[in-house]
Amino acid sequence: MRTPEEIEEKLVNRRWPWSDLERLTGAGGREVIAQTVKHDIYRIMDHKEPWYALGMLEMWAWLQGDDEWAAYLADEATYPMYGAPRLRDACRRLGIEWPADQDMTNMADGKECSEWCERGCIKWVHPKELQTALDRIADLEAQLKEV
Ligand SMILES: [Zn+2]
Repeated sequence: MRTPEEIEEKLVNRRWPWSDLERLTGAGGREVIAQTVKHDIYRIMDHKEPWYALGMLEMWAWLQGDDEWAAYLADEATYPMYGAPRLRDACRRLGIEWPADQDMTNMADGKECSEWCERGCIKWVHPKELQTALDRIADLEAQLKEV
């Protein structure tokens, strides 16, 4: 378990809400994290980004002393397919069942749910990658003007 000083530092540096940390450190912490993950699995099925679980999981991982997992969860650079790969990884670690359907398997593998997805898989781009793509388009347009 982390010391009060370590917790204080994290609350300030990562801007973690104290109320969430308190819920995770209590006796029902494991159930809280399980319910949060299950809720966000449904969001991913709906092609919505998990709004809560990844942050809670980072806190959970850190509280368990798993700095490597916490750092992986905090890294927003590897965040494809609505966070499905990260959430399935969390399910495996926590012993929570991941939906057995093919769409969810594909998304957790970092791919579109299906070849003809019209719900947003193909259009989905991480905000950081979107800026890179826009910069690339601007470069290409500039090159075209020079021709
Ligand atoms: Zn899809």
